[in-house]
Amino acid sequence: MLSIINHLPPGLLEVTPVQLNQVLAGPTLIHLKGRRDPPLFISVLLHGNEITGFLALQTLLRRYTDRELPRSLSLFIGNVAAACYGCRRFDTQPDYNRIWNGGDTPEHAMAQQVLEKMRDVFACVDVHNNTGLNPHYACITHLDQPFMQLASLFSRTVVYIQRPDNLLSRAFADFCPSITVECGQPGTKYSVSHTLEFLEACLHLSEIPQHPVAEHDIELYQTIGTVRVPSKLSFGFGDCQRELCLIPNLDHVNFQELPVGTSLGRLNVPSKQYFEVLDENGYNVTAQYFKVEKQEIRTICPVIPAMFTVNEQAIRQDCLGYLMKRFLRGSLISTCTWLFYAFTLVGFWF
Ligand SMILES: [Zn+2]
Repeated sequence: MLSIINHLPPGLLEVTPVQLNQVLAGPTLIHLKGRRDPPLFISVLLHGNEITGFLALQTLLRRYTDRELPRSLSLFIGNVAAACYGCRRFDTQPDYNRIWNGGDTPEHAMAQQVLEKMRDVFACVDVHNNTGLNPHYACITHLDQPFMQLASLFSRTVVYIQRPDNLLSRAFADFCPSITVECGQPGTKYSVSHTLEFLEACLHLSEIPQHPVAEHDIELYQTIGTVRVPSKLSFGFGDCQRELCLIPNLDHVNFQELPVGTSLGRLNVPSKQYFEVLDENGYNVTAQYFKVEKQEIRTICPVIPAMFTVNEQAIRQDCLGYLMKRFLRGSLISTCTWLFYAFTLVGFWF
């Protein structure tokens, strides 16, 4: 299902994302020769409705139609079919950013084919958008300095993620500095202009610095859990008549440190399940972070939400959002976890 070509297909720089099937048959890897090697690998449209990367790439390539690229480029244009319908993915497809390790679908085989072709790479940048309101930030799966350098070139807000292990940027991290950039909501002018300037800067790098990023140039967070709404529970926002009523503008809490006792919603049924928080190892840790008090779902320790969204389809297809903490070297276990174990032990002995 993968096409591999060594030139820009005619029309690629002119079509809108929904017209992509007029110029591409499906997922496509495009190699373009530049002055320096190895190539910079850029991935766009792994999620069909996250169009910023593709729009930025079109403008970037237009700048080089009659001059040589400063570095070779390998471009991966992912879920072309979903892009034509303006959706993240079809229900019949796997998520294109969960196919880069394991699995036996045609999409998994296609991802392996891309990885086999791309062993000698300068750096990898996978461009995404968020459905909720978030600052622009980069995600890294490794804490090595070149990863942090590349991430801080995009934003001082950087998130260290360890799971899932089947992301594109995680797969590329085995052989080059590799990051995911989250460029805010799709369709905004700034998301495209910021991404464009970042990609242009990457293209001009002769090397990626190996020295540590200055501490004041980076705000490093670590994800500690994924928050889902149980599929059995109906939900809505604001003063709704559903079983779970989440606060309106839930995405406005993203990247804010929430104090203990903050309410994120109201549970209108006597259900023991309201949120499901899974930690990086897949364990249910909901009780470490939330409790229901007089039907209100409240935080029981300070947490920083990220990627919380109010898009109902994104919540059902993916998740409600993530919980994070500030990353401090040497303290991988959060204060919350210590408190949880301390209380569990006290409960055990008394
Ligand atoms: Zn995405």
